[in-house]
Amino acid sequence: GHPALAPFGTTIFTTMSALAAEHDAVNLGQGFPDTDGPPEVLAAAVEAIRGGRNQYPPGPGTPDLRRAVAEHQERFYGLRYDPASEVLVTVGATEAIAVAMLALLRPGDEVVMFEPYYDSYAATVALAGGVRRTSVLTFPDFAVDEASLRAAFSDRTRVVLLNSPHNPTGKVFTREELELVASLAREHDAWVVTDEVYEHLVFDDARHVPLASLPGMRERTLTISSGGKTFSTTGWKVGWVCGPAAAVAALLAVKQFLTFGASGPFQPAVAAGLRLPDEVFAGLAHALEAKRDRLVGGLRRMGLEVAVPRGTYFVVADVAPLGVVDATDWCLGLPERAGVGAIPVAAFHDDAAAARTLVRLAFCKEDHVLDEGVRRLATLV
Ligand code: PMP
Ligand code: GLN
Repeated sequence: GHPALAPFGTTIFTTMSALAAEHDAVNLGQGFPDTDGPPEVLAAAVEAIRGGRNQYPPGPGTPDLRRAVAEHQERFYGLRYDPASEVLVTVGATEAIAVAMLALLRPGDEVVMFEPYYDSYAATVALAGGVRRTSVLTFPDFAVDEASLRAAFSDRTRVVLLNSPHNPTGKVFTREELELVASLAREHDAWVVTDEVYEHLVFDDARHVPLASLPGMRERTLTISSGGKTFSTTGWKVGWVCGPAAAVAALLAVKQFLTFGASGPFQPAVAAGLRLPDEVFAGLAHALEAKRDRLVGGLRRMGLEVAVPRGTYFVVADVAPLGVVDATDWCLGLPERAGVGAIPVAAFHDDAAAARTLVRLAFCKEDHVLDEGVRRLATLV
């Protein structure tokens, strides 16, 4: 394989979903919903396919989707972007993250990120020849540790790679925490690449604050999101980046030779989704909040300590009370032994010791699936 990728091996999602399928397990591992999203969005894709929109879309994305992304940023956050020069459509958030790293980093440049981190972050930084510097968020409160965050910055810091709401912890960064990140980025003249794919999956009284909305940050921030989570269409791979024109042009220069473009008929469908009324977005969060409570309740009844997530569709639990000493080994055996798929949080860490007995479970599943997952896990108590 590619030398820069050698330390990463096979992504945990591939490994765990294959094991779950092999053992016909209840898959609470890889995060994807088991029901479809808004019917208007699905109908728009069918219509686009029937209407012959099956050839290459424009490389930067269809003008209409770029307009819809800009309208969405303004409607929800008051952030204004020029659709023609400041919005770029990508093949999911995954491609956006990769092209941002490839475009912004020179070999040896450092990227500050919180740990645990979404697994593609470390791999794409490595592909770009960058070096990651991490600050650990610790179970169960996952609070930002200011001293360790400061220590992660240096005169080689080029990018801060942020993710809020945060996978795998479900943490929604507070405005104060984001202000700290922003002030350090300004101090070190760094770009912030912020992955906000779970922007609409926020619960209780938590609010998603886009980093670009903080004073002085729009000009140094690239904001990434995706239709996959918001419209329950993870297989469509329609993502986007918003940011200053010069940076967006630099990402496009890379992107044109990675994929050029993709997901032609799904681009108008996601544009239709982004224009749905506020209630549709709120309805998704509302439905997921009830599922969160259902899974958290089940895990607590088993005697597990749970970090209650205020965003995303993941919950982290400590399975030490089940006699587990290494959650990675435990998760590898779980589909066969209990018929459940789960993700070890250590997969998102450089230092596995920080998450030895922690597992991530997804709750974007039908209630009866969550109940069956809990029932099966409870047989291990
Ligand atoms: N970032 C985070 C934090 C994610 O959880 C995911 C999806 N699992 C992605 C990026 C990738 O998004 P997409 O499917 O749109 O490529
Ligand atoms: N984002 C999903 C998760 O965290 C998985 C994405 C993938 O399979 N690469 O579960």
